[in-house]
Amino acid sequence: DLAQRMSERAVDVIKLLMKQGQMMQINDVIDADTAELIAVEMGHTVKRVSEADVEEGLFTVEDNDTDLFNRPPVVTIMGHVDHGKTSLLDALRKENVASGEAGGITQHIGAYQVEQNGQKVTFIDTPGHAAFTQMRARGAKSTDVVILVVAADDGVMPQTKEAIVHAKAAGVPLIIAINKMDKPGADPSRVRNDLLREDLVVETMGGDVIDVEVSAKEGTNLDKLIEMILLQAEVLELKANPNRAAEGTVIEAKLDVGRGPVATVLVQKGTLRVGDVVIAGSEWGRVRAMLDENGKPVQEAGPSKPVEVLGFQATPSAGDMVAAVENEGRAREISEYRHRQKRDQMAARIAGSRGSLEAMMKGLQEEGKKEFPLIIKSDVQGSAEAIQGALEELGNDEVGARVVAASVGGITESDITLAIASKAPIMAFNVRANKQAQEAARREGVEIRYYSVIYDLIDDVKSTMSGMLAPER
Ligand code: GDP
Repeated sequence: DLAQRMSERAVDVIKLLMKQGQMMQINDVIDADTAELIAVEMGHTVKRVSEADVEEGLFTVEDNDTDLFNRPPVVTIMGHVDHGKTSLLDALRKENVASGEAGGITQHIGAYQVEQNGQKVTFIDTPGHAAFTQMRARGAKSTDVVILVVAADDGVMPQTKEAIVHAKAAGVPLIIAINKMDKPGADPSRVRNDLLREDLVVETMGGDVIDVEVSAKEGTNLDKLIEMILLQAEVLELKANPNRAAEGTVIEAKLDVGRGPVATVLVQKGTLRVGDVVIAGSEWGRVRAMLDENGKPVQEAGPSKPVEVLGFQATPSAGDMVAAVENEGRAREISEYRHRQKRDQMAARIAGSRGSLEAMMKGLQEEGKKEFPLIIKSDVQGSAEAIQGALEELGNDEVGARVVAASVGGITESDITLAIASKAPIMAFNVRANKQAQEAARREGVEIRYYSVIYDLIDDVKSTMSGMLAPER
């Protein structure tokens, strides 16, 4: 590759590498510094390509107001387990299949649209918080409105609170669906009172949070729920320009045995068409076919439309941002650049977390502020980010939480090292420590606290911090 770009013979490049003591073969990978050395040695001028060069024009083209048209709202349903998220998603879909597609074979592609009085609503049908936060963590803002499902016979529960934290952190408006109204024990006023304690004041109590009493089981008030979503959408003035290169987010992605990589893309700007060349995260492809949630082939998809996209070279990840680009060459270039960047970041993380940490701790002391340093380990990136966001909001002028590191995956020895160096406890959310890490933690006296509910974690930190407050003088 390098030889080709310099219009030199590969053997000459390899010879030069050998002279410098590097035994290489034609398909071996060399790092950027070596490549630069070789290029200069051979009399070429090197121009290092930066992110800005490669990704110029991606996700930065602004639209004129006059090019913007209304687009359907995109909705995610969250709530405590068993409160009826899945039932509600199913009921909404059954009740109100978009543009009379009834009879088609419904497919789970990760999102679907319903239509009411000619107006569409897109639902992301991967219920739960993980999907929502995972996408947000990657910078993708895929949800306009969150439906918070609360069972009328159960009230606000830990995961309800967690969902509120997530939605607030994302700045996404909530609509409350008080579900299971058909049950004898249904008590919607209890739900409203519970919500009040979470600083959510519903309209009937003088606040501005919309709530709708529904029954997913009996299909009661689902049209009203959609009406409220559409109303909220109007307030939000959701618009996009359909007449431009497509941009969107990967909602789900998988490697299908028969069809190859399949990604459900939520188009957010522009129109995606069969034949377009797209880049999603570090993967690229030419759109070979697109299918809607009924398994029907579609030729194009405009803003807020979810479609299954076939034709990727490799499987992208949920949460990856998608953009249509001019041609294959450019897609390849961006893809290669991002793959390289991933490798470099990985290497940097392995090599040098220590220096930056020491600098950070020094900074802490200099500020003279009482900091409560914490390390967050979590099962998905989104939760780590949500926890970090919520923790950094705690505290006052005197005491504050300081997230030293927030990352994904089981706790390893290197996390323990980090914890020792930063005198921070490890807050583990839905992850465990491996054996070596457990032993090291015991040996070194590092505290690991385990949680499965974000709210509990935050509450714990809150009370620890209040213990750090200086006594009143
Ligand atoms: P999820 O965990 O939030 O996705 O909850 P599910 O949708 O799986 O529902 C949990 C249980 O509650 C299931 O047994 C549903 O049949 C039941 N359920 C959901 N919605 C309603 C409802 O409106 N009324 C009644 N009576 N049961 C419901």
